[in-house]
Amino acid sequence: MKKKVRFFQSVNFKIALAFILILLISIEIIGAYFIRGLERSTIDNFMKTMNQQVSSLAGTVGSELSKKDNSDTNVENTTIQRILDNTMSSDMIEMRVVDEKGIVRATTNVADKNVIGKKNDYRDINDFTTKSSRAIDEDTGKRVYINVQPIQSPTGDTVIGALYVKSDIEKKYEEIYDTALIFVTASLIAAAISMIVAVLVSRSITQPIGEMQEQALRIARGDYSRKVAVHGKDELGQLAESFNLLAERIEETQDAMESERNRLDSVLSHMTDGVIAADRRGKIITINEMALMLLNVQSEDVIGQSMLELLDIEEEYTLRQILENPDEILIERETPDRGQIILRTDFSMIRRESGFISGLVAVMHDVTEQEKTEQERREFVSNVSHELRTPLTSMRSYIEALSEGAWKDEEIAPNFLKVTLDETDRMIRMINDLLSLSRMDSGNAQLQLEYVNFNELLSFVLDRFDMMVTNQEKKYMIQREFTQRELWVEVDPDKMIQVIDNIMNNAIKYSPDGGTIKVRLVETHNNVMLSISDQGLGIPKKDLQRVFDRFYRVDKARARRQGGTGLGLAISREVMKAHNGAIWAESKEGQGSTFFITLPYEPYEGDWWE
Ligand code: ADP
Repeated sequence: MKKKVRFFQSVNFKIALAFILILLISIEIIGAYFIRGLERSTIDNFMKTMNQQVSSLAGTVGSELSKKDNSDTNVENTTIQRILDNTMSSDMIEMRVVDEKGIVRATTNVADKNVIGKKNDYRDINDFTTKSSRAIDEDTGKRVYINVQPIQSPTGDTVIGALYVKSDIEKKYEEIYDTALIFVTASLIAAAISMIVAVLVSRSITQPIGEMQEQALRIARGDYSRKVAVHGKDELGQLAESFNLLAERIEETQDAMESERNRLDSVLSHMTDGVIAADRRGKIITINEMALMLLNVQSEDVIGQSMLELLDIEEEYTLRQILENPDEILIERETPDRGQIILRTDFSMIRRESGFISGLVAVMHDVTEQEKTEQERREFVSNVSHELRTPLTSMRSYIEALSEGAWKDEEIAPNFLKVTLDETDRMIRMINDLLSLSRMDSGNAQLQLEYVNFNELLSFVLDRFDMMVTNQEKKYMIQREFTQRELWVEVDPDKMIQVIDNIMNNAIKYSPDGGTIKVRLVETHNNVMLSISDQGLGIPKKDLQRVFDRFYRVDKARARRQGGTGLGLAISREVMKAHNGAIWAESKEGQGSTFFITLPYEPYEGDWWE
């Protein structure tokens, strides 16, 4: 995110600093030259003026000094003194005239008037040569300019004295300092103003840059709503315009990518196959809804997990094997609601154009039903072959015995022939059963629906069983318990009779001699329910569901002895399914079983006929 730039690191500060440094350096250089020049011209001028004044004064004093009446050395108020006093200006500190004998003749120093007429004590004057020098005044400590000028006689051939002038050069220096001070003050003010200008100028540069930086951060966060303000048409303005254009392009590209991804996502999530995509290392990066549902997992738990681990195949396969030989694998999973399911998983690699493998995709298809059907089909074929082989083998051995001479034996032959006949009958029954099952499976068995009075239909079947009881070895009694109401239902009567026959036959078959078979017919709100209870062997709980499966028998040997095919209840279940009804059984082992069938029923249909 946006980092706070410290002021001293900011461009703002750097530009201002550069501005001020340039300014200060130029002021410094200009100032140095200027003050140096000023000093030189002022001081030189001063000294030149002084030199001129002194030499002209020396001329004036010379003519005075050569006069005879001026030879009195002790007189204070001489003409020379007056000339000196008149010439004295504010620039001068002291003037002194010494004659050739070294006697002081006049001085402007009021406090030192008594030196007049006495021997000169200024060493500078002693040798009567022209001198000019700057020195420090011993009394005041200020800078002074000292001129010594020999005084010539009016003829100009002899030196008759010397003129000494001490002038105040310090004042000139002070003037220069004052000017320099003005210069420094002005440059400080200029520096301050330029600093403000520099900050303003640099801000006008850094502000748009700062705005662009903020906008860049917003774009990074995915917010394209705002635009950078374009100030003017300069380079920064153009940059801001380009920046806005760039943002627009990014937004367009982003939108295009987003919608493309949404499309892919919706394709993925609406697929009926489970899809898992993993990276090169086998870590899951995408998983669709269907895959989550099939594997019974949550997306947040599996993203980043190893795909092999999730599919629970990491022990049998390595990622390398799958990548080298992507093939389909059958995976079995335990689900809480559907029990065991079988997923056919096809693997394929994601390859870049360069051939580099960048990932792996697994597509899972739920093949539980297919596999179950296939399994059932295999079992069925093996059952049919087995069921047919048994009677055929036994028939073969009887026929073999007969052909080997038993046919001549009047005692054995009819017996053997009866067994083969019975077995043939059973095989025909079984094949008929199989045919009708196969017709129902393929949907070829059309139901011949009729409205029938179910009470009557049931009575008809049971009457037949009552009739049969006399000529059967096994005795039984049928106890009827019917509702008073006539129940009209739409059924295929032949098929329905086949179902009831089958349940009744089983009740007799699997009951001991002399049992009672209770038949109840009741109506519930919108169902007709028939239940047939026997007092027979009962069915173990674990087999209750399975007795409706093809060829399933609780006790194989016993059922076969009874001539059963193991298909009766399977056919009954198919018939009931075709009628939109149901069939199930309840049982207590050793105490008997009850078989129930229900049919959909609309109670008022019967009244309509009357
Ligand atoms: P089957 O021709 O062998 O009777 P079914 O499909 O009619 O074939 O019945 C399947 C199996 O269900 C029978 O072999 C038997 O073991 C069991 N069974 C069916 N009805 C009864 C019953 N009333 N009492 C006990 N077992 C039964």
